[in-house]
Amino acid sequence: MKKRVLVNGACGRMGQEVVKTIVLERDDLLVGVCDQVNIGRNLMDLLGLEAEELIIKGDLRQLIEETRPDVIIDFTTPTVVMDNIRIGLASGVDMIVGTTGITEVDLESIDKLARENKANILIAPNFALGAVLMMRFAAEAAKYIYDVEIIELHHDQKLDSPSGTAIKTAELIKQNRKEMRVIEQEEIEKITGARGADAEGIKIHSVRLPGLVAHQEVIFGAEGQSLSIRHDSYNRKSFMPGVKLALDKIDQISGLVYGLEHLLA
Ligand code: NAP
Repeated sequence: MKKRVLVNGACGRMGQEVVKTIVLERDDLLVGVCDQVNIGRNLMDLLGLEAEELIIKGDLRQLIEETRPDVIIDFTTPTVVMDNIRIGLASGVDMIVGTTGITEVDLESIDKLARENKANILIAPNFALGAVLMMRFAAEAAKYIYDVEIIELHHDQKLDSPSGTAIKTAELIKQNRKEMRVIEQEEIEKITGARGADAEGIKIHSVRLPGLVAHQEVIFGAEGQSLSIRHDSYNRKSFMPGVKLALDKIDQISGLVYGLEHLLA
């Protein structure tokens, strides 16, 4: 079914890619674009797209009232994403959220709000299908090899660390592993942070460099061997099949679904 779509954060790196995908590849109708930059300008001109004029608005609540979307796609920033979710769900609109920085505590209240307003919401820390598989394979490996560390690498404009994908991977590993490494000798960290962040026993190392997009390596180590599971997103197009899948299935879920893997057959 054709959906009326509103993109929030439409001028951002991800938002622009989502807008192009909807205009160029989908039957869905792009009815609204919201951002805090370029307000009042025609986004189609800015993106060089030959499509009907769509003026960028800055007030999400008002834009929902004006455009009556079926679904909001949000790629904004960790500081505002919870406000956006509250506004969207309270209006009874389904949401697809890729913005990271949402905590486990937030998830409970989001599910409650969605159900109260009879709206559905998919939150996915990573829309790249390869990254979803990387997490699935890491969870499988964790059943057999307990010692593991995660290195996540992103572009230098990323605001939050560690990445939502790294946090989710650590959670999946924790759910699956039967034992945990016991470090017997006391470690001496000569520079604070050298051993990375500690996600309940799993070390996460965050690298931020220009030129990178989104990458993660999960390294398992055992006596005489190691297993590396790595995924690389080389550009933001890599996230679009996942966004399209979410658009296809958002009206078939109920309440909150966290993670694209739940939509994969
Ligand atoms: P970005 O380029 O900084 O884009 C974010 C856009 O949202 C900016 O234009 C920003 O405007 C705008 N914005 C800020 N507050 C807003 C508000 N209240 N209402 C509407 N728009 C608002 O960031 P990005 O690289 O596109 O990434 C966006 C988010 O997606 C990040 O959290 C990132 O980690 C995440 N991400 C997720 C995936 C995934 O697969 N789930 C993949 C890549 C990235 P200003 O510049 O004025 O702040």
